[in-house]
Amino acid sequence: MSEDTFKRFWKISSEVASESQRKTPFGSLHKAPDWVFPVIQLSRSSGRADGRPSRQFRILKNLKDEYPVQYAFGLSYTSMTIEPPRYLPWLLGQALTIVPHTKTIINCSRLGARYLKDVKDKVIIPDRGQTCVIKTDFKKMITRRRDQYTYLIPRPASGVLILGGINEHWNTSHEPNPASREMFKQRAFKICPELGPPESMEVVKDIVGVRSTRTGGYRLEREEGIGGRDVTGVHSYGYASGGYQASLGTALQVVQLLKGEE
Ligand SMILES: Cc1cc2nc3c(=O)[nH]c(=O)nc-3n(C[C@H](O)[C@H](O)[C@H](O)COP(=O)(O)OP(=O)(O)OC[C@H]3O[C@@H](n4cnc5c(N)ncnc54)[C@H](O)[C@@H]3O)c2cc1C
Repeated sequence: MSEDTFKRFWKISSEVASESQRKTPFGSLHKAPDWVFPVIQLSRSSGRADGRPSRQFRILKNLKDEYPVQYAFGLSYTSMTIEPPRYLPWLLGQALTIVPHTKTIINCSRLGARYLKDVKDKVIIPDRGQTCVIKTDFKKMITRRRDQYTYLIPRPASGVLILGGINEHWNTSHEPNPASREMFKQRAFKICPELGPPESMEVVKDIVGVRSTRTGGYRLEREEGIGGRDVTGVHSYGYASGGYQASLGTALQVVQLLKGEE
């Protein structure tokens, strides 16, 4: 699914690339031929970073020369980032042009699946996330996974950088936690000193969101006779932190399931 999504995103980004230079309809969803995203990870990978599709994959051989902080192993690849406030309105515009008349239900209700009368999926749980947005022209994406997942994700079209992250089971609060914000800044400075010390970072805002994590993994399946009615449906939810990444590939599979091709 991720690979299908990647291919589709890559195609979309190619199609709008020249436009995005001028109008930036979703500026960070584009391939970045002149960027290199050093991705610092501590586990080995074969050919593809994190097993995901990638371009210009390479192992950073002289890590000390290429990257100023002490790490055992590093990967670099070119990919895309999605800036939801730009991407989602564009996507909605696309969808509104093709909404069909149908008797079919596609259930993408996320945490709603826990409470929907005909679904009541009790293995889906909320996982709260928070990030901190700082103003900077820094354009490299850096992630580091250890006991905590630290990431720096640029949104070049908006001139900001996202610092994260955190994962809090069963927390559904949408209030930003200032202590988490400070922690993100500290962790970002630690893996990327060129950002400058935490006290010098210009915070634009906090972002809070609740992921939907499903024990045992996402649910993507067809169901006949939902709620005892003559309705066919496909359930597609529980993608945790991979909703965008899975999205377009999942959509293809939903169509296949509806056509009875899988
Ligand atoms: C902190 C955080 C980090 C993330 N990081 C990543 C990442 O690194 N990579 C990535 O690919 N994605 C990431 N995501 C995106 C995530 O995986 C989801 O795709 C995203 O949160 C949106 O999920 P969704 O489309 O499933 O749900 P939503 O956009 O919330 O859609 C669910 C819809 O169902 C509706 N609904 C619910 N119950 C009912 C009901 N009973 N009746 C009718 N409608 C109902 C809701 O109103 C809502 O419109 C992240 C999200 C968060 C919060």
